[in-house]
Amino acid sequence: MSDSPVVDLVTLGQRLRHQRKSKNMTLEQLSEAVGRAPSQLSLIENGKREPKLSVLQAIAGALGVPLQDLLRPEAPSRRAGLEIDLAHFQQSPAYGSLGLPSVKGGRRLPADALESLVGLHRELNRLLTEQSATPEVARRANAQLRVDMRERDNYFAEIEAAAAGVLRSVKHATGPLSQRGILDIAAQLGFSLHYVNDLPGSTRSVTDLVGRRIYLPQVASGKGHDPRAVVLQTLGHFVLRHPEPADYADFLRQRVEANYFAAALLMPENFAVQFLKEAKADRALAIDDFRDAFGVSYETAAHRFTNLATHHFGIPVHFTRVHENGIVYKAYENDGVRFPADVTGAIEGQPICRKWASRTIFGSDDPYSSFYQFTDTSSGTYWCTVHIESTRSGEFSVTVGTPYEHARWFRGGDTSRRTVSRCPDPGCCRRPPATLVDRWAGHAWPSARVHSHLLAALPPGTFPGVDAQDVYEFLDRRA
Ligand SMILES: [Zn+2]
Repeated sequence: MSDSPVVDLVTLGQRLRHQRKSKNMTLEQLSEAVGRAPSQLSLIENGKREPKLSVLQAIAGALGVPLQDLLRPEAPSRRAGLEIDLAHFQQSPAYGSLGLPSVKGGRRLPADALESLVGLHRELNRLLTEQSATPEVARRANAQLRVDMRERDNYFAEIEAAAAGVLRSVKHATGPLSQRGILDIAAQLGFSLHYVNDLPGSTRSVTDLVGRRIYLPQVASGKGHDPRAVVLQTLGHFVLRHPEPADYADFLRQRVEANYFAAALLMPENFAVQFLKEAKADRALAIDDFRDAFGVSYETAAHRFTNLATHHFGIPVHFTRVHENGIVYKAYENDGVRFPADVTGAIEGQPICRKWASRTIFGSDDPYSSFYQFTDTSSGTYWCTVHIESTRSGEFSVTVGTPYEHARWFRGGDTSRRTVSRCPDPGCCRRPPATLVDRWAGHAWPSARVHSHLLAALPPGTFPGVDAQDVYEFLDRRA
């Protein structure tokens, strides 16, 4: 992303030619008027040469148009727009690698041939882009990112330092960051904030890098993300000097870093560590207290806890966000817990063990109050604290867990709730109980709900994406 608008030479040339023709001037006439060779002007019109500012000024004067008009970024006509697109497509490395000749977009190219060529280029580009963002690529990138996060205990010292620097620059001295503080930070970085109701549905914010304006959604309260976090995530990309992402892995890493930056401002390291230190001394660490002290969402508090727990307190942790249907949406661990994974090492989209706290909570009598559980797993016993968040796409459990010996630092560390998980032994919960299989296998036809927002592929099975046990139990209840 560049701060200065770049003049596109092809567009400039097209605008110039358009103006010259509309004034009924030949290349020779214009060249005489500005004292340059016709061949030079031709190169400029074809976007092959960058004109000096003095030459451009002379041309604008000879044509009787304002210089700004020649520099405008739009094509002067639809035909010219197609010619510009064709030139750009043919200059791309992807086209170059095909070894095919370039076609001139000039007058001798019939309109339908031009339309057809540009249409084919657009489609080729779309297919290539689609290919580079397949679920397979996304899963590998996710898996690699999780390895990187584990290696640094999910603590990013350089982002903590950047966030602390920003807080100092607005003289933020204590406690949670207010809306006023966020406006100060944006202003300090040279951005103004604008709340609009027509932001593209696929974006969380859009930034005009020329006008330094950040457009944000007008969020009705209690719906979706913390609006403060969205601003800070956007500013994070600039503070952390993110270039345009080169590929999906890059995109993902930048997103993690921007989210980390936002959390490090909403829950500044020194105050957060002080708060947790006191709670630990009382053996009363609790994510809900942490959330309440800083006025953030439960998930933000839970995730922020994983940033600080190992680095500052030597407590290894895991974190999951699991949909009520049992599918993992997000997960992190550095405590040895074994998440279900596919061959690429990706865990997004995998069903988590039915005996784990992130799933048993949905069957609890009182799922909305504090929920704690010890779980014996194939890699040891873990203590977990779970919270349910209701969203428009269903209910999610947000879990923070730690190995048995660290439970004593947490409120609820003395819970008597305990389950045994034998996963990945398929006899644990991957296969429906034999009685249900005998009754329903071959007699059920579920139609899968497709998770278009979940990049990971669906878990395998006779009906991909469908949990057979849930289906059989459902039919059993109705039978
Ligand atoms: Zn299981």
